[in-house]
Amino acid sequence: MNRTPTTPDIKGRPRTESPMQYVKGIGPKRATALEIASIRSIRDLLYNFPFDYLDRSRIVHIRDLKKFVDAEEPVTVIGQVYRQELRRSRRSHQLVFLLTLEDETGHLPCVWFKGVQWFKDAFEPGELLAVSAYPGFYKLGRIQFTHPEFDRLKGAEEEDEPDWGKLFNTGAIIPKYSSTADLTKVGLDSRGFRRIVRNALKSHLHSVEETLPDEIRSRADLLGCRAALEQIHFPARPEDLAAARRRLKFDELFFLQLMLAYRKRRLGQEKKGITYTIESELARTLAASLPFELTKAQRRVLNEIADDMRSSKPMNRLLQGDVGSGKTIVALFAMLVAVENGYQVAMMAPTEILAEQHFRTLEGYVNKLPVTMRLLIGGQKKKLREDIREDIQSGRAQIVVGTHAILEENIKFARLGFVVIDEQHRFGVLQRATLREKGLNPDVLVMTATPIPRTLSLTVYGDLDVSVIDEMPANRKPIKTGVRLEDQKQKVYQFVSEEIRHGRQAYIVFPLIEESEKVDLKAATAEFERLRTEVFPEHSLGLLHGRMKSEEKDEIMMKFKAREIQILVSTTVIEVGIDVPNATIMIIENAERFGLSQLHQLRGRVGRGADQSYCILIANYGWFDAHRKGLEAGELKREKMHAQTRLETMVETADGFKIAEVDLRLRGPGEIFGIRQSGVPEFRIANLVEDGELIAIARKEAFLLVERDPQLRSPSHRQLRKHFEDQYKDALELGNVG
Ligand code: ADP
Ligand code: MG
Repeated sequence: MNRTPTTPDIKGRPRTESPMQYVKGIGPKRATALEIASIRSIRDLLYNFPFDYLDRSRIVHIRDLKKFVDAEEPVTVIGQVYRQELRRSRRSHQLVFLLTLEDETGHLPCVWFKGVQWFKDAFEPGELLAVSAYPGFYKLGRIQFTHPEFDRLKGAEEEDEPDWGKLFNTGAIIPKYSSTADLTKVGLDSRGFRRIVRNALKSHLHSVEETLPDEIRSRADLLGCRAALEQIHFPARPEDLAAARRRLKFDELFFLQLMLAYRKRRLGQEKKGITYTIESELARTLAASLPFELTKAQRRVLNEIADDMRSSKPMNRLLQGDVGSGKTIVALFAMLVAVENGYQVAMMAPTEILAEQHFRTLEGYVNKLPVTMRLLIGGQKKKLREDIREDIQSGRAQIVVGTHAILEENIKFARLGFVVIDEQHRFGVLQRATLREKGLNPDVLVMTATPIPRTLSLTVYGDLDVSVIDEMPANRKPIKTGVRLEDQKQKVYQFVSEEIRHGRQAYIVFPLIEESEKVDLKAATAEFERLRTEVFPEHSLGLLHGRMKSEEKDEIMMKFKAREIQILVSTTVIEVGIDVPNATIMIIENAERFGLSQLHQLRGRVGRGADQSYCILIANYGWFDAHRKGLEAGELKREKMHAQTRLETMVETADGFKIAEVDLRLRGPGEIFGIRQSGVPEFRIANLVEDGELIAIARKEAFLLVERDPQLRSPSHRQLRKHFEDQYKDALELGNVG
C-alpha cells in the first residue's frame, strides 16, 4: 500500500505507516477506509465526535409512541428484529422492505422504500436495534417509522457494551457516529466506531496535550482537554456531556478569535493608514442641501467613522443598518471627506443594477458639487471602458462606483484612499484584501443591509469594528404586512388595482421556480402575460428578470421610476437596492418558498416614501406536498413549519435584527452570510446560533491573551502556540492578506 500520511500522530512523531494502526482494532483495511473519510490520525479519530447520542430521554417504549406523534425531535425505540420481509406496496406496487421490531410493550413496523435490496439481508432475526424517526401515522391509527435511522446495538463479539436491556434504568448515554458505505463495509458502522474510539482513548488519551493555560481554564470554567475528549465520546451523565461540549466548543471559538485578534492587530500595526482632516467644505455643502435632518443613529455612526478617519490606524468598519435606514448618505459624507483630502474613493456593489443605482443616487446628491464620479461595470463599450480606466489611473475620477470590475488587475488607482463595500455578504475576506492592495492602505467601510446577529458579527466579521444604524428616518410609516392564501388572490389583485387608481405603483415578485433559468423564464413570462391580459388589462405592466441584458433592465426600471409602468412583475432580481418611493405595494407570490432575509429585503423596497405601504405575502403551503415528495413525513412537516414561521415573523416584526435571529435559527449559520468564503473555518461542534455567550468569553480571552503576550513567549503558552500554528496555519495565511 502506498500511503504517506501527511499528519503526524498525536505525539507529533512522523510515521511511515498509518499511525491509525497503533489503535487496537484498526488494521490496514480500516486505516485506509478511515483515511478516505479524512480520519488520518489518532487525533482525527478522537476529534471525530459523535453526531448524536442515544439519550435516555428520547428512548420510548413502543406502547408509548402515540404520545410522540407531534414530536419536534425524532424519538428512539430499542427492540429486537421480530419479522422482516420484502413486499409490494398495494398502492404503487413499489417494492418495500418491512421490518417489525419488538420490545416488551409491542411491535413497531419500520418501512424502507429505498435501498430495499440491501436491507433485505441487513439484519439478523433477533438482532438488537435502536431505530430513530418521527413517528408517523399509518392506517387505522397504527404508528410506523419510515426510513428510520438505525444503530445496531450488540454483536456476538461485543463485550464492552452496556447492558441494553437496562438502558431505561441506568441512564447510559451511547454515542452515535456517522458512517459511510465504505466504512460500514469494513465494520465501521456506528457500533464499530464506538469500539475503536474506546480503544484509542485507552491507549492514547494520556498523550493528548492540554492547549489552554490554567488561567484561562479556570476563569472560563472549562474541563481539561483529556477529560473533555473522554466525556464527549462516553459521557457518564448528561452534565458531563454538557461540560465536555462546552470545553471543546470553547477550543474552536477561542482559536478562531485568536486568529481574528492577530488579524486585527496586524492591520493596525503593519502599515500606517491615512490620517484625514475631517473638516470638509464638500460635506458641509452637502449637509446644507439635504431636505432632511440626519437621524441620531446616523450622526453617531458618522462620528465613529470620523474618529477612524482621523486616526492613522487604517479603518476597518462594518456598517450595519436595515434597508432604508440611510447608510448611503452616511457613506457619502465620509467619501467626500476623503475626496477633499485629495484621495480617490471606490464604492463596490455586488451587482450591476445595484452599482448603477448607487451611482445615480450619489450623482443625485453631488451633482452640484465639484466632484468627478465614474461608473465601472462589466459590459461597457471598449472605448468608454478605456476612458474610465484612464480617469482612474490619472486620478481624475475622484469617486468610482462599480462592481467586481474594480478588482480587475488592469484597474489602477492613482491615490485610492477610501473604499466602501456594499456587501450583501457576497464579498469575502480575499476580495476585501485585493481592494486594499490597490490602495494606500485605504480606510475600508463595509456596508450591509442584512442585519447580522451579534454572534455572527463577532466571528465572520470579527476583525472589523461594528457600527449600527438602528433607527429609521422619522418620516417612515410602518409597512402593513399580511399573509393571504392562494385562494384569496383575487381580492389581493383588486386591492392592487384600487391603489394604482390612486396613483400608486406595485411590485409583484415570483420565486425562482425550477433549477433551470430557462424554465423559470418561461414560467415568469407566462405569468406575466396572464397578469397583463387577464388580471390587470387596464394597467401598464413591465417584466424584469435575471436573463435580461442590463440595458433592458435599465429601461424597465427607468420606466417604472417614471411611472410609465405601474406594476413591475419580477423574479427576485429587484431584491437589492431599487429605490422607487411611489411604489407602495409589494406582492410576493409563493412566499412560502422565499427565505426570511430575502422576504425582508423585498419588503424593504416599499415604505420608502411618505404614503402607507403594504406587503402581502401570498402563501401556498400545498406547494410542499406537491413538490417535496421525496421527503420523509417529518422533514416535510418541518419544512412547512419553517415556512409558516418565516411568514409569521414577517407579520410580527419589521426589526431586521430580530428577523436575522430567526433566520439564523431556521437555517443555521452555514448557508447564510457567506461563511464559507469569509475565511472562517467550519466548526465541528461550536454553533453560532446557540453559543453566543461562549463566543463572547472566548473573544475576551483571546484578545486579552494577544494583548498580554503577543508573541506567545510565556512557557505557559507554549502548547497553545504550537497548537495554534499547527491547526490554523491556513487561516493565518489568509489572515496575512486580510
Ligand atoms: P440604505 O442605504 O440604508 O438602504 P438609503 O441611504 O438608500 O438607505 O436611504 C433610503 C432613503 O431614505 C433615501 O431616499 C434617503 O435619501 C432617505 N434618507 C436617508 N436618511 C434620511 C433621514 N435622516 N431622514 C429622511 N430621509 C432619509
Ligand atoms: Mg442604499
